[in-house]
Amino acid sequence: MVDDSEIMTTTPFVPAGNRPIRALGLLSGGLDSTLAVRLLQEQGIEVGCVNFHTGFCIQSHTGAMRNPREGAPPPRHDALHAAQTLGVKLHLIDIASDYVRIVTHPKHGYGKNLNPCLDCKIFMVAKAWAMAKELGYDFIFSGEVLGQRPMSQRRDTFPVIDREAGVAGWLLRPLTALRMPETEPEKRGWVDRTRLEGFSGRGRKPQMALAKKFAINDYPSPAGGCCFLTDENYARKLRDLWAFRQQREYSMEDILLLKAGRHIRPAPHFKLIVGRDQTENRFLSGFRKGRVVIQTRNIAGPLTLMEGEVSSREDRLLACRIAARYSKGKESSKVAMSVEYEGVTEVMEVFPLPAHELPDQWHV
Ligand code: SF4
Repeated sequence: MVDDSEIMTTTPFVPAGNRPIRALGLLSGGLDSTLAVRLLQEQGIEVGCVNFHTGFCIQSHTGAMRNPREGAPPPRHDALHAAQTLGVKLHLIDIASDYVRIVTHPKHGYGKNLNPCLDCKIFMVAKAWAMAKELGYDFIFSGEVLGQRPMSQRRDTFPVIDREAGVAGWLLRPLTALRMPETEPEKRGWVDRTRLEGFSGRGRKPQMALAKKFAINDYPSPAGGCCFLTDENYARKLRDLWAFRQQREYSMEDILLLKAGRHIRPAPHFKLIVGRDQTENRFLSGFRKGRVVIQTRNIAGPLTLMEGEVSSREDRLLACRIAARYSKGKESSKVAMSVEYEGVTEVMEVFPLPAHELPDQWHV
């Protein structure tokens, strides 16, 4: 793993002998980073890539957590798929635990939701640069395009990323290079600037035309999103968690559970996570330990986890009534529920909570 102490040093190194120039790219597997790789490969540059796992990547979890839609392709890891298609070595690096402080206390603040894009970019670029030096790459590059993202891909934020990541001059952005000052690899003649692009803005047409030229057809839709922190619903659940804990913190288990189920908080001191389909029920079942588990006894229904300060029978009864309304017995007058907690199984017969008694504000 890369040592943070290396991150602020920017001393360049000169490639030795006649070996090819080597570049390390940040690869999400989306169209832009894929095209950035191809542009450099076209120039005979030996490319390797890195993909960082933050714990908030959408593609690596949602596909595996919900029942698949009929005819939907099987879930895949976009960066791995792109690396295989491009024929590049991919370094998959888990930064999830170091990343916590980026999400909880971003120096540059949040974007529209809880996405700390500028701090995130600075962190990843610094990590990539440290890795590049450790692994013998000559410079780093990314698929960023000027003006494409409101928080991190702006003319005034690119220099901030480069400066604070300690990489000024050594991060090339091949898709937008013609709109940026020359980088060291260009000045040294390692990269032919005239064969780079000057894309800008949010439009995707130039990228799609370039993809066609390179015969790249199989890439994820940009509308799919890549990071839960940009998702309004997810951000609301994370804020609710921080409000309940009275501090900004999370564990890997917390952020996984925020991705699954309906989250309902009927009282400030406890919350329910109600599975929405079979796959989610199985997923939630793996998180029983330390939580109250509620299930229907004789009819089909969700698996519900209850977490927080849960001790009263009254709370458990309300939780059962809520869980029962998402079961096959929601129209019945009585549904038998089993409630497991602290090694005890309690049976409760409840009247499912009618819709008008479940206020919108309980839904997190
Ligand atoms: S969208 Fe997420 S992964 Fe991408 S820069 Fe922003 S915080 Fe980082």
